[in-house]
Amino acid sequence: MSDDAISPLSGMLFLGGELTPGAGERITVENPATGEAIGEIAQATPTDIDRAVSEARTAFREWSRVTPHARAKALHRLGELIAADADGMARIMTLEQGKPLNEARGEILKLAEACHFYAEEAVRVHGEIVPNDKPGFQSLVVREPIGVVGAITPWNYPAELIGWKLCASLAAGCTIVIKPAEITPFTALAIARKVSDAGFPEGAVSVLTGKGSIVGQALVEHPDVDKIAFTGSSAVGLHIQQTCPRIKRLSLELGGNCPMIVTATADLDMAVAGATRRGFRNMGQICIAINRIYVERSIYENFIAALAKSADALVVGNGIEAPDADVGAMASAEPLTKTREHLADALDKGARLLAGGAAPEGEAFARGHFFRPTAVADCTHEMKVMIEETFGPLVGIAPFDTLDEAIALANDTPYGLASYAYTRDLFEVQKISAELDYGNVAINNVDAGIMNAPYGGRKQSGVGYEHGREGLLEYFNFKHVRLFHGVS
Ligand code: NAD
Repeated sequence: MSDDAISPLSGMLFLGGELTPGAGERITVENPATGEAIGEIAQATPTDIDRAVSEARTAFREWSRVTPHARAKALHRLGELIAADADGMARIMTLEQGKPLNEARGEILKLAEACHFYAEEAVRVHGEIVPNDKPGFQSLVVREPIGVVGAITPWNYPAELIGWKLCASLAAGCTIVIKPAEITPFTALAIARKVSDAGFPEGAVSVLTGKGSIVGQALVEHPDVDKIAFTGSSAVGLHIQQTCPRIKRLSLELGGNCPMIVTATADLDMAVAGATRRGFRNMGQICIAINRIYVERSIYENFIAALAKSADALVVGNGIEAPDADVGAMASAEPLTKTREHLADALDKGARLLAGGAAPEGEAFARGHFFRPTAVADCTHEMKVMIEETFGPLVGIAPFDTLDEAIALANDTPYGLASYAYTRDLFEVQKISAELDYGNVAINNVDAGIMNAPYGGRKQSGVGYEHGREGLLEYFNFKHVRLFHGVS
């Protein structure tokens, strides 16, 4: 059953500055809360891909020469258009992704904020004059936009994860071809519709829908795409790195397995609230979700009792009908299956079920991908929940005796995206922030990423940064101009 918000976007690509019906293979898109078909995507064909890249190249010649002030103006306009239609765009996101409407609306407003942030940064990109070893010379280091960007994005934050790439590219003077996740294409097309109203050059932004292994891979291999900005799993990120057939810039924002340490000096209520928020928000489908919690033994039983209560209190709902539910449906069957597997594995190996563990009961949940927020205690690193990314509403908890032990356990992972700690002891704060081997460390809070600080992973969690000036600089080449002027 198609929805009025979705039907104008169903089967469309965004090419040449407008929505265009696609001719490729059709793939059905479902509402994960009901299992109903809400529309379909048309897989971009090789001709569509070549057209998007070639138009992006043509648009790049114009856009890279436009003044930063003009680029900023267009981005501010884009931010205003997106914010003005936050309700409509949120509905599209909830229908395809499952998160509650209010949360989807918040994400759309953060996308608008990203437009304004990068608009402001666009006019602050400056070069340097570097001292020389001989008189009469001057060295200028200038920053030039990279060119055509291929952006490949996942489904968990269908607006923001496009937005950071889109806004930084356009602010820098790059042009961009976006390949959104198969299950959340309509948010991407809804964003593109705003791009056409904001007045960017035709072809500066395109959206190509379809399978990652076909459309995404074609962008990775395309000789005229200068950079791939990818957010997704570590496995696909590695595959992209290994199969990219030519030298090109890669930013890879990948998976995580994020720890939280709670010491005996922590404010217990704050720690429980933080664990609940970052463990279960968006049904745990967040790269920076808390997957595992290490709690100092003297407060362990108090902590797990409080977390169980807090997890049980979360309201699960159909995101459209219950806009203010705490969590909605999971985005598809795949992460739900993995969550169940990780839970069964933990229980088999001796974990204690504290909360959740099953789908909510009732007709309203019968056809969607629903699950109760779930916590298990007494976990070990033999259990998948403690060593793999679950990407679902499941948190494993274990006690520790010394801070060194907790830090060693927290670092015992191939990932390095985000980590968390609750403590009120200054020594512990300093030791934890220095020794956790992660790109992001949040202490006494769980919002590891903010718009004006760099956000990126280490180890198998990726290379490159989004957010902040560092996020913008990912879209530039540096050029050194060494000039002899003869004035000594
Ligand atoms: P995924 O890797 O399966 O897919 C991501 C995107 O890559 C999709 O658009 C997909 O179609 C495309 N893709 C798949 N195969 C491809 C190929 N061979 N070539 C090019 N593109 C291809 O990830 P997902 O399941 O959509 O998202 C969940 C993952 O994303 C989790 O691991 C999560 O941690 C990660 N993630 C990371 C961040 C971050 O900032 N580090 C943010 C959000 C999500």
